[in-house]
Amino acid sequence: MNLLKEAGSPKTIGITGHIRPDGDCVGAVFGTYAYLKNVYKDADIRLFLEQPPAIYSFLKGYDKVDTTFAYPGQFDVFIALDSADIGRIGDADKLFLGAKKSILIDHHISNNGFGDVFCVEPEASSTCEILTRLFEDEYMDVDVAKALYTGIAHDTGVFRYSCTGPDTFAALQKLVAYDFDGSKITDETFYQKTYVQNQLLGRTLLESILFMDGRCIAGYIDRKAMEFYEAESSDFEGIVNQLQMTKGVEVAIFMYETGTLEFKVSMRSNGKVNVAEVSSYFGGGGHVRAAGCNMNGTFHDVLNNLSLHIEKQLESFDQ
Ligand code: AMP
Ligand code: MN
Ligand code: MN
Repeated sequence: MNLLKEAGSPKTIGITGHIRPDGDCVGAVFGTYAYLKNVYKDADIRLFLEQPPAIYSFLKGYDKVDTTFAYPGQFDVFIALDSADIGRIGDADKLFLGAKKSILIDHHISNNGFGDVFCVEPEASSTCEILTRLFEDEYMDVDVAKALYTGIAHDTGVFRYSCTGPDTFAALQKLVAYDFDGSKITDETFYQKTYVQNQLLGRTLLESILFMDGRCIAGYIDRKAMEFYEAESSDFEGIVNQLQMTKGVEVAIFMYETGTLEFKVSMRSNGKVNVAEVSSYFGGGGHVRAAGCNMNGTFHDVLNNLSLHIEKQLESFDQ
């Protein structure tokens, strides 16, 4: 995709990402904002996103985020980032669908494409990696580079997960040429945890259960605990990855209660099980090794439903 050709000469541009924005989503939204600001100096560029965590407040555009999703007019161009399906952009869907031109850029294997034009690259580590390739050098600057670096770092577990490939490092080579402190970004947005976040992690690990002969591990936080710790969804980031680090485990499951008998489920696989496929049975999606969905029932109901699909995949893998 040639992003600037597709965008044309817009006077108004809207940008959004997925609900409960993660590092890649935040990096992609603010990176695109900083980049398009350099390209279209006179355009009115708006950002629509659920409130991103304060750790990202160093990124250009953070103070410009509109969390109301209210806009009276029609956008010339509206861009959705890091979003596997239209449902993932939440209340921005009307603005996206109502725009003169809607553009999607994403890397989820479960994404079938939506909007007028889309660029979906499931082999890319992150949406920010794709953007690094799409963005033209003459409009790049340190603000764009910092945002894209943040996104790549988050979706690759700081350049570690199997989604990290030669193209990821080629993108990073382009970004680190700009003058910023990359380790400060990964320390302050990825590794550092608040006291409460560490307590939630500790509690989940302590109460986790191992099943399917040690090949599956699951942990959860219920509403009572969330209220006690005054936890938000962003406080759970990284817990599922720590569960996954248990020796012998093929699939790690973490969930937290979003309502009465309603859970947001996160899954991570070490490769044998395609968790995007497991999630798809429950209306979710994601990547082969990292996926999620929303499910109803008790913790044990949800586990039972997921286990059927995980077990089936493990059995066919073992044969
Ligand atoms: P998470 O476990 O929330 O970190 O998400 C892991 C991956 O799965 C991310 O790339 C998400 O975008 C994707 N994902 C999580 N939940 C859903 C969902 N309900 N529908 C589609 N994709 C999801
Ligand atoms: Mn994301
Ligand atoms: Mn992503």
